[in-house]
Amino acid sequence: MQTSITDTNNPAIAEADAILRSCVHCGFCTATCPTYQLLGSELDSPRGRIYLIKEMLETGQATDKTRLHLDRCLTCRSCETTCPSGVRYGRLIDIGREIVEEYAPRPLGEKLLRRAMLAFIPHTSRMSLLLSAARIARPLLPKNLKSKLPARQKPTITPATSHARRMLALSGCVQPLTAPNTNAAAARVLDKLGISLITAQKAGCCGALNQHLSDAEGARSMMRNNIDTWWPHIENGIEAIVMTASGCGLMVKEYGHALKDDADYAEKAARISELTLDLSEVISHENIDSLSNIGHGTLVACQSSCTLQHGQKLSGKVEAILQRCGYELTQVADSHLCCGAAGTYTLTQPELSERLLNNKLAALQTGQPEIIATANVGCQLHLASKASVPVVHWIELLEPK
Ligand code: SF4
Ligand code: SF4
Repeated sequence: MQTSITDTNNPAIAEADAILRSCVHCGFCTATCPTYQLLGSELDSPRGRIYLIKEMLETGQATDKTRLHLDRCLTCRSCETTCPSGVRYGRLIDIGREIVEEYAPRPLGEKLLRRAMLAFIPHTSRMSLLLSAARIARPLLPKNLKSKLPARQKPTITPATSHARRMLALSGCVQPLTAPNTNAAAARVLDKLGISLITAQKAGCCGALNQHLSDAEGARSMMRNNIDTWWPHIENGIEAIVMTASGCGLMVKEYGHALKDDADYAEKAARISELTLDLSEVISHENIDSLSNIGHGTLVACQSSCTLQHGQKLSGKVEAILQRCGYELTQVADSHLCCGAAGTYTLTQPELSERLLNNKLAALQTGQPEIIATANVGCQLHLASKASVPVVHWIELLEPK
């Protein structure tokens, strides 16, 4: 695609220009875009959004309509999987969103909602207070918010860290409050495989939430905090940084790119990204023969999160592990489509999010599974708000019941 963008002294705009030029506007991506499927409008397709970003960067102008169509994108990156030209759409939409905030400022109500989300969600202690207050006020909450309130999970026991093989885990921001058993189960399963999982207490949110809410500087600050916290462990020889939430894993794998122009952090960030693995990558390289009958043929529907299949390109890894462990998997139609969780999408685009959730649950529950398994906390909470069977992180299925 030809472009005529003049402000290429700005590194983000220069990067966007290069991405735009890689698009040949063939439109293959529209076929696998969830918002195009729901809304049927070119402007709610990847190609349409690419044109909107191109126009914005060429003219230096944007309207509320531009912002609306960029907001409706889930950043699911299904279009990247489909694109034959390797267009880095995920990076382009992040840049486009940052710039549209400047060219077409939001109404006050939307600004306040975004500020509130940034002030609470990435900060575990504040979010804990908010969740406690919401649980107390539960009877007074509107029905749609009530169903989104995650059930309280009791923290479970984690083993002592005694093995020579050590890996770091990220607790994250929301997961310790809403699904604490995920990291605990990961630690117990890895312990049985001879690996100790260590958590660096001062590490916090991976930065993904800020990144997708157009707060790139806030995201970079969180990345630097995690790098500083993890670095002594890396110097002490940890083998890998294991991610139990695929959304966080994708973000940490991109630290190297996000901090490439930061003289103090570029090298460390690149090393962190190299060391980062999704939990499914770790487990699939270990000998798990001792777990081969743990599933007893239980019927599981696997939801492949977008950040795992489209972002990290790890399609089929979790499914293969569950099958090796004796689970039977149901067929799930349209497994490439997003469930509608997509970070804060449930709050910013509630109607579209609900339609995607209904479609996803219909697809997951067609095969009458006993359990739904996922690899990402956001999807887990979103699916669990309406599913008729338990929704768990897949690692929980690798422990005896
Ligand atoms: S499939 Fe790729 S090259 Fe074709 S329009 Fe979509 S983003 Fe552009
Ligand atoms: S990221 Fe997902 S929602 Fe956004 S344009 Fe691509 S396929 Fe569509």
